[in-house]
Amino acid sequence: MNDEKILVKVGGSKGIDYDLFVEDFSKFKKTILVHGGSSELNNISSKLDYPPNFIESDNGMSTRFTDRKTMNIFNMVYAGKMNKMIVEKLQKLSVNAVGLSGIDGKLVEGEKNKPYRVTQNGQKKVIRGDMSGKITNVNVSLLKLLIENGFTPVLCPPAISSENEAINVDGDKFASKIASKLKCQTLIILSNVPGLLRDPSDSTSVIKLIRLKEIDYYIEKFARGRMKKKLIGAKEAINAGVKKVILAGALQEKPISNAISGEGTLIE
Ligand code: ADP
Repeated sequence: MNDEKILVKVGGSKGIDYDLFVEDFSKFKKTILVHGGSSELNNISSKLDYPPNFIESDNGMSTRFTDRKTMNIFNMVYAGKMNKMIVEKLQKLSVNAVGLSGIDGKLVEGEKNKPYRVTQNGQKKVIRGDMSGKITNVNVSLLKLLIENGFTPVLCPPAISSENEAINVDGDKFASKIASKLKCQTLIILSNVPGLLRDPSDSTSVIKLIRLKEIDYYIEKFARGRMKKKLIGAKEAINAGVKKVILAGALQEKPISNAISGEGTLIE
């Protein structure tokens, strides 16, 4: 159908219908999939009596505090339940999918964050023991081996640190780095919103087009919270050679086809 190399990242928010998503995904060749799992992780952590702990940094970003026990549950949900659910659905549609996390074959490498300070209730506090970090490298040889032999990679965090520990990294950055390193033409980031919205409470206010040179203005003016990370990931991907990034909605039929035919926010 389409011969471009496309990387699709599907978020892990509530309400995504993975049957509809996978059916559309299966129509594209040479396509790599990255998925999230945040809502299911919150759900399972709470069921295991270990509810998520989000820490707000002094610049207003909220991040999941990932201690060893959280990382074990993270692996269970991302590399286990979510990854194998998607692989099984793809196999049912005759797509020979292989599921890997960033630690397998050191696919995605990163650096664990150093202890950091935050202000909580007016008091400075040092946060230690957080197994979160930043991506530094993607080893594409394993991915190429799979793709060139007809397998479809289905990928998710965590990444692996230089001390060979699993680290929690941002899913959008994970997708953006892999798309860049694999020289994908298109990166599609699907989430529970139909694109970058002028007004986050109005789903019809999608911003249709952002030129790379204007992206900082849009990040500053419209994006809040996690949407900022998607736009920063988009900017980094285009700067690294990806031709276009589309932010579009996952809560519908044919989300990928619709994104390619013009729905959502196109960044180029
Ligand atoms: P996922 O987990 O699917 O990757 P996220 O929840 O991380 O998705 O990111 C999407 C979220 O970004 C939306 O649900 C919305 O709450 C938030 N957001 C903040 N600003 C905007 C904006 N201007 N337009 C759209 N979404 C926004």
